[in-house]
Amino acid sequence: MRLVMLGAPGAGKGTQADRLAERYGVPHVSTGDLFRAHFRQNTELGQTARRYMQEGHLVPDDVTEAMVWQRLGEADAHRGYILDGFPRTLPQAEHFDAALSAANWRLSGVFHVEVDRAVLQSRLTGRRSCPECKATYHVQFDPPSVADVCDQCGARLVQREDDRPETVAKRLTVYHTETEPLVQYYARQGLLRTIDGNQSMDEVTASLTEQLALIGLAHD
Ligand code: ADP
Ligand code: ADP
Ligand code: ZN
Repeated sequence: MRLVMLGAPGAGKGTQADRLAERYGVPHVSTGDLFRAHFRQNTELGQTARRYMQEGHLVPDDVTEAMVWQRLGEADAHRGYILDGFPRTLPQAEHFDAALSAANWRLSGVFHVEVDRAVLQSRLTGRRSCPECKATYHVQFDPPSVADVCDQCGARLVQREDDRPETVAKRLTVYHTETEPLVQYYARQGLLRTIDGNQSMDEVTASLTEQLALIGLAHD
């Protein structure tokens, strides 16, 4: 199974990718998480990426692609993966296609999680993240049982620096210009499946499960 989750910041890609990854036993590969892990470890790549991320800009394609190729080459990704946040530009998608063809691999599907802009805004500004285990919460839609404390590991939750309102607006604009063209790109390849992401988390998971069954990826 090789899936791509496509959608605006805050659409719920990460939330759903986590659920599918657990169910199908393949890794959830989030480029945002990989960049954040790099800057926590203070690597050169992390320093570079952070400068772009803080401003709500995309990290340059070459830097991003090198990191993704390395991650997808690891042993746990040989059976497949769920990509969340990659590809995000047309050149990334084209290079990825070339790399897949060279390896004689094909994507199983691209899920476009569609959410209204007003909803995205409130999802992003209310998002809280665990800096230790990367679990995601929402102050209103998915609060932890103790305010600001991670249910899974007890760490103190934080707001990502790019989830502040000023940066959120910029990221939504960048999504529109840089990433949205990928919807047409994958539709032309017959890979695109559209999901209504305005629904509750469980309803979105149910829609994804239905669509996966249609492409022959039912589980159990
Ligand atoms: P993305 O990875 O697409 O940026 P996330 O999965 O991090 O999105 O979700 C963004 C925020 O919205 C998080 O705080 C998450 O808890 C919340 N969220 C995700 N899916 C839903 C949903 N279907 N309904 C309400 N809130 C959601
Ligand atoms: P979100 O969950 O809100 O969609 P991510 O965690 O996926 O955000 O990404 C956070 C930031 O990391 C992006 O705003 C961008 O700066 C950078 N980033 C993530 N994926 C890519 C990518 N494929 N290409 C370039 N930059 C990326
Ligand atoms: Zn945690």
